[in-house]
Amino acid sequence: MTVHRAQPDRNGVLALIGNTPVVEILKLDTGPCRLFVKLENQNPGGSIKDRVATSMIEAAERDGRLTPGSTIIEATAGNTGLGLALVAAQKGYRLILIVPDKMAREKVLHLKALGAEVRITRSDVPKGHPDYYQDIAERLAAEIPGAFYANQFGNPANPLAHETTTGPELWDQLGHDVDAVVAGVGSGGTITGVGRFLKKVSPQTEMVLADPEGSVLAHYLATGELIEAGSWRVEGIGEDFVPPVSDLGLVGRAYTITDAESFSTARDLLLHEGILAGSSSGTLVAAALRYCREQTVPKRVATFICDSGNKYLSKMFNDIWLIDEGFSKRDATGTVRDLVT
Ligand code: PMP
Repeated sequence: MTVHRAQPDRNGVLALIGNTPVVEILKLDTGPCRLFVKLENQNPGGSIKDRVATSMIEAAERDGRLTPGSTIIEATAGNTGLGLALVAAQKGYRLILIVPDKMAREKVLHLKALGAEVRITRSDVPKGHPDYYQDIAERLAAEIPGAFYANQFGNPANPLAHETTTGPELWDQLGHDVDAVVAGVGSGGTITGVGRFLKKVSPQTEMVLADPEGSVLAHYLATGELIEAGSWRVEGIGEDFVPPVSDLGLVGRAYTITDAESFSTARDLLLHEGILAGSSSGTLVAAALRYCREQTVPKRVATFICDSGNKYLSKMFNDIWLIDEGFSKRDATGTVRDLVT
């Protein structure tokens, strides 16, 4: 079911956040299941994080932590920053963002164009290191008088945005009938919020984690033990710690997906379904397809297109980049072969 906006919206761009459409996957092999994707890339800031930015800023305004003219600080891989930059620019707040250096250049340029101050830091240091992006944000928030540290990793307004908007929308759009929802964890806001909502209205619906290989979360879920994180190239999901705002107790099962499988699934999504999705959506859809193909009875499964692929055109959608990074290879004739999975 597609949501149509029949009239021009006169409340400005922030009124266009949420109410994203859901579309069915028709060409990829979904086994006995039906797979639906919610197009969060259609939010005005381009990702699922617009909802969270609005929710965190409005909650802070309500309880007086954010007053006119004050500064918002956040540690972000990009999309939360874009959402915050959009909302901050509309509402007149100064915004400082701490961004790890592995993030796509297009995201950083977009943030700056929206008026945010961006400070780049190292991607290769763990939590507790002085150069870790979240530690820098926390320090800065303590130094700047009246600054508000949005802290998506510990802010209850993050999962609440998904509990009150993403979850109910998906539930209505699927006709109150969904067997499994697949999500990744960056902050854990999506999986926690959607999971909390569905637990109330449909406790039998299974929440499924899609985790990049190298992230600690799938292993933690299976064993309760925290291993040392590896590295991965998918952006926006996978963690080296368990975010305090996440409730992994809601998650029934997990799939570990390699970068190569995420990238090839994202490319299949564009080629076969016409959906230009980002790398984390590749991970989510790859896990959702695996879940679907493992089923012996028909099920209704949903996942998210978390952001748009246009930020990744020079990376995973670029054959030369894939070859240079070892995800793809040329044969003797120079023809690019399939992605290595
Ligand atoms: N995909 C992308 C591209 C993201 O930027 C994020 C947020 N970091 C997510 C997925 C994960 O969402 P959440 O923070 O709700 O776990």
